[in-house]
Amino acid sequence: EIKIVNEDYFGAYGSFGIHRVMLSDKARMDAYHGALMSNPSLINQATVMDVGCGTGILSLFAAQAGASKVIAVEASAKMASLATQIAKENFLLKEVNQNSEEKAYPPGVITVAQCMIEELNNFIQVEPHSIDVLVSEWMGYCLLYESMLTSVLYARDHWLKPGGAILPDTATIFAAGFGKGGTSLPFWEDVYGFNMSCIGKEVVEDAGQVPIVDIIESRDIMTESAVVQAFDLTTMKPDDMDFTANFELKLRSGSQGEEISTDAKSQISWCYGVVLWFETGFTSRFCKEMCTLLSTSPYSPRTHWSQTILTFKEPVAMESARCTTELAKSAVVGTEHCPAAQVRCRLSIVRSSAHRSIDISMEIT
Ligand code: SAH
Repeated sequence: EIKIVNEDYFGAYGSFGIHRVMLSDKARMDAYHGALMSNPSLINQATVMDVGCGTGILSLFAAQAGASKVIAVEASAKMASLATQIAKENFLLKEVNQNSEEKAYPPGVITVAQCMIEELNNFIQVEPHSIDVLVSEWMGYCLLYESMLTSVLYARDHWLKPGGAILPDTATIFAAGFGKGGTSLPFWEDVYGFNMSCIGKEVVEDAGQVPIVDIIESRDIMTESAVVQAFDLTTMKPDDMDFTANFELKLRSGSQGEEISTDAKSQISWCYGVVLWFETGFTSRFCKEMCTLLSTSPYSPRTHWSQTILTFKEPVAMESARCTTELAKSAVVGTEHCPAAQVRCRLSIVRSSAHRSIDISMEIT
């Protein structure tokens, strides 16, 4: 588990690579751009707060969409000063345009505050419950890694008007089981014709110790998707971020399901682990003209979040569609039962104390 303390965390956001990655993530950008630019009834003339503005991109969208006031808050000193400069150089910074002789541009509406959102009151005066729209891109790997959501909820509870909008307003964690193709076993089984699967086995064992952020191809997924946990950003409490969820992964039916990771002789599909991903919704609750969805699913175009892969210590046998009970019985070592067409899992995600990391644990139930 990588531990990132606060100082390192904001330091990391001061380097530009990560901002370039985020600004180049089309799925991410399209969802926020659509939500902010295509919902005039929400954004036009609104007072908007951008929690963790980074380069200020979301504030720039809001200003461009006609917000009357945008408060952009950024803890990283370097990024806050650059966001200020960017807003200024795009004629959207408040202070500049007040004294500006240039009248051809729209009046500046963005104010950048360089501070933790939790300390905003020490820096600028924002009336309690005066914000119409709270926007933030707070999501981390597996949704909750980095736990910046707490800061968004803090802003909601202090400054959002009753009934005010949060963008995004829903967040959901999903899971699905993956087959052998989702592991590195196939690679090690055939290296220029040589079998190096002893290495593959060690790699898979190591993967059982710690969640891995990587891409899973949809063809390697062998179960239906299951909702692990769904959050409503308008009502959730910070403690909801720590949860235990039970879910069931059903073998995906159809020919595709049989192709993947099925042992042809036994008709057993081996499930090697669980892949997690998330979606955030900019739903019609607030986005009346156009709602958008940001999906980091293996079935959607790749994002910089990839997926989060949890490998089982031992693969689990699942009964494939054409499996007969006899075959199933003979194929399963160490159990007399026919393997089921579903795997039941219990997953816990808990914020790790004093750090921005999370602890994920999973068991088969
Ligand atoms: N909104 C930008 C940046 C998103 S990254 C974009 O969409 O491109 C998240 C940003 O939030 C980082 O720049 C980080 O420094 C900042 N941040 C994280 N926690 C914060 C907090 N509690 N207060 C203020 N800024 C914070």
